[in-house]
Amino acid sequence: MSDYLIREILQDYSRQRAENQRALRQRRAELYESLPDLREIDAQMAKIGRDISEAILQEPEKTDSLLQELKATLDALKSEKAVLLTDHGISPQYLELEYRCEKCKDTGYLDDQTRCQCLNQRLVSAAYKMSNIEKQLEKQNFNHFDLNVFSGQILPKEQLTQRENMKIILAETENFVDTFPNGKNILMYGTSGLGKTFLCNCIAKALIDRGHTVIYQTPFSIIQLLERRAFTDRGNAFVQMAYDQLFSVDLLIIDDLGTEVPNSFTIGEFYNIINARILAEKSTVLSTNIKLSEIRTLYNDRIDSRIKGHYQLLKFFGPDVRWETRRNG
Ligand SMILES: [Zn+2]
Repeated sequence: MSDYLIREILQDYSRQRAENQRALRQRRAELYESLPDLREIDAQMAKIGRDISEAILQEPEKTDSLLQELKATLDALKSEKAVLLTDHGISPQYLELEYRCEKCKDTGYLDDQTRCQCLNQRLVSAAYKMSNIEKQLEKQNFNHFDLNVFSGQILPKEQLTQRENMKIILAETENFVDTFPNGKNILMYGTSGLGKTFLCNCIAKALIDRGHTVIYQTPFSIIQLLERRAFTDRGNAFVQMAYDQLFSVDLLIIDDLGTEVPNSFTIGEFYNIINARILAEKSTVLSTNIKLSEIRTLYNDRIDSRIKGHYQLLKFFGPDVRWETRRNG
């Protein structure tokens, strides 16, 4: 593991916690401006807190009765505050700290000292230079998938219209996300411009949002990584970390398979990744513009049979709806 990287990311968590505190102070200050009574109540509550500590220190023999008295006042103030907030339509959470990640409260670690998924995803994103992925994917969600752009005409050689087919594919991918982690794998195939990349984005976005770790890459950049690890950057901890993540990440998405020119080295490595993930029941999503029959010739029999035996095959067909251009423009 790259210690330097962890340190840098943890500093960012620390900045985030400071920012959470600052945001809370600002929310409180703004409320005090519009609700001076609230400031007064908070001041009284803080004073009672101090009185209680003092009483325990200075008059231990009277502590019980005094404490009861102070606690009763404190309770009265608490309900007064709750009423004041409710009357002004402010939820009590508004005056609590807000976190980017509720699970680890922006520390990166859970109570049992294991890494939170948000920290794991930060490491993956750093290793794969995907740091902006969540922002980039903001609009790429299932709600923006418009079935109406697809043709409703029956096409020669196909049983369904393009729109009917896309409806099924959409349901299958949504089901994949809803039942995750499920050990399932998906191969999306068909010519370009039919929404494959968009759906890969939807899946990545939905699963990252739900706290799963996702690597989303082109075959080209994965091959680069494999070559660095084996040849040009041997022993580089950062490269090794990125490589290990190919096996450990909850979901691996390789978009646009077949655009690369595989050789026997990359084919061997690729098989290893595909196969290890199947054995570990970790999901992989592949998309490709090549024909199903070309997988065997481009790669080999073993990869072909792994994919056809263990992947759900989703066939995209019909006229190019220029989905990718629409998405960008
Ligand atoms: Zn977290």
